[in-house]
Amino acid sequence: GRSLGELIREGGRSFSFEFFPPKDEAGEAQLWDAIRALEPYQPTFVSVTYGAGGSTRDKTVAITGRIARETSLIPLAHLTCVGHTREELEGILDAYDAEGVAHVLALRGDPHEGPRADWTPTDGGLNYAIELVELARARGSFRVGVAAFPEGHPSAESLDHDADVLVAKARAGAEFAVTQMFFRASDYFGLVERVRERGVDIPILPGIMPILNLSAIRRQGELIGTSVPDEIVERISAYDGDPAAVRAEGIRIAAELCDELLAGGAPGLHFYTLNRSKATLEIFEALQITV
Ligand code: FAD
Repeated sequence: GRSLGELIREGGRSFSFEFFPPKDEAGEAQLWDAIRALEPYQPTFVSVTYGAGGSTRDKTVAITGRIARETSLIPLAHLTCVGHTREELEGILDAYDAEGVAHVLALRGDPHEGPRADWTPTDGGLNYAIELVELARARGSFRVGVAAFPEGHPSAESLDHDADVLVAKARAGAEFAVTQMFFRASDYFGLVERVRERGVDIPILPGIMPILNLSAIRRQGELIGTSVPDEIVERISAYDGDPAAVRAEGIRIAAELCDELLAGGAPGLHFYTLNRSKATLEIFEALQITV
């Protein structure tokens, strides 16, 4: 089959959906409901995050394997360096391979304290995501994607250095990138421009997270280095006290961002679904995307 890098380049307009490994059986049912509800939209791929620690970690292997076996979808399995030795990472890559999962999103992961905390690599482990790109490329026939940050990684020294990091990951063999959530199209286009100026044409899929609850998004944004612009805070705050209206405005804002991104040449849209299909389908409706 064709690799995701090729499909994203050739497909014109890529759609993809991100899920996370659920903690319990109810969560598992919700995840599969969402996957089945979104499957008819024929996304280019669906991705499953790799847990920060503990028991959700091997769930990524199981879920992506089941997606490969039981659905028409191409799974993209996330993998992080944090807390693993090189041998452990090789073992997980082999498990993905055995499950029929051919695509990996190679990430560094974060310390327990979050992405701003000082990073200390695990003894015998890897230091940066680029080393995992190289490891995955060298082992089996994996095709690899990486993370990108329109507002810069929270601990990056500058936007230029951050673009250098993404360019290095592309030169190491990453075929596509997916961005952190962001709310200003100009931040995304700025990143694309910095990467293109460096002579690298890696497709960069914008990561879309609709605001359904302002304080939750602000809390998360603070952690990951995404700011919620004042004009968006104002638009959402106008509906304070009316959760349904807040949600509707959040969907409108996300749909406007999607329109602007696609009009400006983004190769597609990657949706953070939080294991639910409803918000993504509402955005699709606003964008007039149908099955
Ligand atoms: P890197 O590319 O290694 O960069 C990390 C930091 O080091 C950056 O500040 C970078 O500027 C700097 N750096 C990189 N290389 C060098 C160098 N050579 N010299 C000096 N500095 C350097 N986390 C999870 O735990 N599980 C997930 O499934 C997951 N999925 C994600 C999906 C997406 C699309 C995104 C955007 C993030 C995801 N994350 C996930 C979070 C991610 O692990 C963190 O954002 C992490 O802090 C950075 O990961 P990275 O792969 O970009 O790391």
